Amino acid sequence: MMEVAHHYVVVGQDYINGLCEGKPAWEIVVKTATATIVIYYLKDFLWQDVSLFERGKRTFFRLARKIPAVRDKIKEEISKIELDMTKEMNENINNGDYIISLPQTGMSNEQILAETAKYTAYGKYNWKMGSSSGTVYNCNSALTDLMTKVYGMSAWTNPLHPDVFPGVRKMEAEVIKMVCTMFNGGPEACGTMTSGGTESIILACKAYRDWAINVRGIKRPEMVVPSTVHAAFDKGAALLNMNIKHVPVDPVTMKVDVAAMKRMISRRTCMIVGSAPQFPHGVIDDIEAIGALGEKYGIPVHVDACLGGFLIPFMEDAGYKLPLFDFRAAGVTSISCDTHKYGYAPKGSSVIMYKEPSWRRHQFFVTPNWPGGIYATATIAGSRSGAIVAACWASMVYHGRHGYVTYTKKILQTAKKIEESCNKIQGIFVLGKPDVSVVALGSEDFNIYQIADEMTQRGWNLNALQFPSCIHIAVTTLHTEEGVAERFCNDLQEIVAKFFKDPPKDGGGSAAIYGMAQSIPDRSLVNEIAWCYLDSVYSTEKSQEEEESSEHKLNGDVKINGKP
Ligand SMILES: *Cc1c(COP(=O)(O)O)cnc(C)c1O
Repeated sequence: MMEVAHHYVVVGQDYINGLCEGKPAWEIVVKTATATIVIYYLKDFLWQDVSLFERGKRTFFRLARKIPAVRDKIKEEISKIELDMTKEMNENINNGDYIISLPQTGMSNEQILAETAKYTAYGKYNWKMGSSSGTVYNCNSALTDLMTKVYGMSAWTNPLHPDVFPGVRKMEAEVIKMVCTMFNGGPEACGTMTSGGTESIILACKAYRDWAINVRGIKRPEMVVPSTVHAAFDKGAALLNMNIKHVPVDPVTMKVDVAAMKRMISRRTCMIVGSAPQFPHGVIDDIEAIGALGEKYGIPVHVDACLGGFLIPFMEDAGYKLPLFDFRAAGVTSISCDTHKYGYAPKGSSVIMYKEPSWRRHQFFVTPNWPGGIYATATIAGSRSGAIVAACWASMVYHGRHGYVTYTKKILQTAKKIEESCNKIQGIFVLGKPDVSVVALGSEDFNIYQIADEMTQRGWNLNALQFPSCIHIAVTTLHTEEGVAERFCNDLQEIVAKFFKDPPKDGGGSAAIYGMAQSIPDRSLVNEIAWCYLDSVYSTEKSQEEEESSEHKLNGDVKINGKP
């Protein structure tokens, strides 16, 4: 064996010597160095996060947009879209005036309350009657009263100073531990409260990134996630300078393809993820199989239970069987769970849990050298609202296990009712087999976004999803009220029946925007349209037609409408 190897080494040496024979030393050195640089450059050029084909496409579109005619046309179309968006924002506030500088003297309490009543009454959707998918998870008046009282009592507290506000510290620690217990975390289970699901997810990404860099010595850590995972993971990857690989899902069940996930794991993988359930179609990934992958390769596993976090732990008591989804599943090292969704706490709270404190350590941020003191925070925020913590704590102890089980039963019953009725409507179908509270609908006969537009006409505010085209409703306590689910299904049935009789023409509305957005090959244009939308959210400009006729003064000393 050794002799054979030795023979090849000698042959190799002779070959290379032969190549160099008679060449000056400088030539050998320069050519070798050049070749090394070229290979290094090629490797970098060919193997990037974005495929060569994709980069080629982007360059093509970037160049195409330099052509004046193309550039002007795009600019014109986009400014039209921008105007439309601002116009709609203004219509939703009855084209009222904007306050754009501080009132010279303060308003009276009566005036403020009257204005607040006006502001909070704007909007075309009757969300209190359950017209919106998700959005508001509970608005029962007894709970609202309690929340506002608790908020008032704790309004000025700040968990950044546990020495000054020890009671709020206790509440926060209790919220986290109660949620850990819900998910069968052992005595070591721990976590932090955050401002919402997005922050919980970003922090889990940060913890695993820092673990990978500092413990494993991975240069650019990579996460492997289902394609249906929440966009917060993409946001986390972008903010934290991580790679993200999206694993395809089974087109029938909509669950992540675990075999494909296994193939996409590499030396750089620092975390793998499953959702329980995922947002688009309400389906729970196979957490036990994903956990087993994590165990096998020594990679931490995050379960995103942001949406279903206050439903799935109660489903067994409510009479529904589920495979393991929490810390009982081997390999699961962290779970995100939103208290501000089905926990019925006011918006602004979520919990990120870890199986043991060593993972949480990597989430913390400490800078020992700040002149302001040794600065140590557990989450992204510095100062935070203790009132949000207190209200969350109050909601949890108010409902108790029994309260949550009762709501879970009602929500599951309503979701099943919607699923069954929709499955009977010819012309639409339910995607996957909804496991919890979300029912996603597609159509082979019609443009599903046109159906959604008709539903909007009838007062419904549903979520539009893409790849594949579908819409969904996330059932909340508001939809469990008498007659709401029936009205939803009847409206759908009537719209589809109408479409069969009188097929819809291609028109405007969200159908046009979503249809177009999915088919635009130049994805940077979609970004640009989305930027316009975000700009319009912060607009204090009145729409142009309104401008001439409008009254420019609200009261004597308030400056309005963009031009101080
Ligand atoms: C809502 C949600 C999140 C986080 O969203 P936030 O709006 O930041 O609370 C994450 N994952 C899933 C599946 C969700 O539904």
